[in-house]
Amino acid sequence: MKPFVQVKPDKKTLKRIEKKVRQVLLSNNYVLGKHVAEFESKFAKFIGTSYAVGVGSGTDALRLGLRVLGIGSGDKVLTSAFTSPFTILSIVEEEAIPVFVDIDRETWTIDPQEIEKQIDGKTRAIVPVHIYGNPCHMPQIVKLAKKSGLKIIEDACQAHGARIEDEMLGSWGELAAFSFYPTKNLGGVGDGGMITTNHRQLATTLTYLRNGGQTRRFYHSLRGVNSRLDELQAAILAVKMSLLNQQNRKRRWLAKRYQDGLADLPLAFQKTIPGGYHVYHQFVVRTGKRQALKKFLHTKGIMTDVHYPLPADSQPIFAAYKISKLRVTQQISREILSLPIYPDLSIREQDQIIKNIRKFFG
Ligand SMILES: *Cc1c(COP(=O)(O)O)cnc(C)c1O
Repeated sequence: MKPFVQVKPDKKTLKRIEKKVRQVLLSNNYVLGKHVAEFESKFAKFIGTSYAVGVGSGTDALRLGLRVLGIGSGDKVLTSAFTSPFTILSIVEEEAIPVFVDIDRETWTIDPQEIEKQIDGKTRAIVPVHIYGNPCHMPQIVKLAKKSGLKIIEDACQAHGARIEDEMLGSWGELAAFSFYPTKNLGGVGDGGMITTNHRQLATTLTYLRNGGQTRRFYHSLRGVNSRLDELQAAILAVKMSLLNQQNRKRRWLAKRYQDGLADLPLAFQKTIPGGYHVYHQFVVRTGKRQALKKFLHTKGIMTDVHYPLPADSQPIFAAYKISKLRVTQQISREILSLPIYPDLSIREQDQIIKNIRKFFG
């Protein structure tokens, strides 16, 4: 049985990574050194923001993003439940209140028309999640946020290199959070994350917050955390970043092949907004026969997965924030199935998957 996702580097990339790892090992400095600084400026340039601050994970990127904006106890944060529970965990860890907003039936991202209904005097921020690498309706969300004086922290943890027209995701809000978890479109060999922003003061404060709140050496004037991207991850990520655009193009090409190869079947696909450039962290189909299809493919040696089996508001730890009105979220969550998609997936393997799905629907 082939694994659902393959993340190990090819031979050429492995060589480049080995060289970098050696450099780091011999550098005598493994935390917050030149590899982190170089990767941060490279990443900021790629996203088109003035600053990028490396942290320990995507979850920490979200947490510190909230914290640096002063969002915490009793503040309401609007987001979708159709996401990784880690999105919501970051809000709850900062003692803020997640308010779940239903998703758009076509794009499966937060529905701008539902956002406005949920805004009240305690609402401080919106965390739009670019789920599976599909851009949220950012122009509308930005407009709404401006009108209501809300901050935007993008959850771009699945959206490295995705954009709307020429504007990269990660550059639309006050701040954005990225994850370098190994299976993400840009993944390290362990945990890592990044916050992007155009605000100089926020970026500076974030460099303090990730480092225990030290505003100068051994002087802690802010309540920070220990969440630093390490030199080894940064050096490896810099190598892997040089492959990202090409790998995203491959993912999009594979997605198109799935869509064409399955077009006439009773399956629905995620739609993208006009001008949106989806980077297919996952390729997900919707079917009322999810369990049977998953089982059938498994008997053919094809692994599939569900991202995510429970909407976040139905997770036991978030029971206090559960609302019953998320009709679209609940329905779609029951019907989704993620098919294998990763840059090294071969055409032959994909054709085999398509053939077997066709056979299932016979
Ligand atoms: C991966 C992910 C996170 C969390 O990132 P970590 O690096 O695993 O902490 C948050 N939100 C979304 C949408 C993710 O996919």
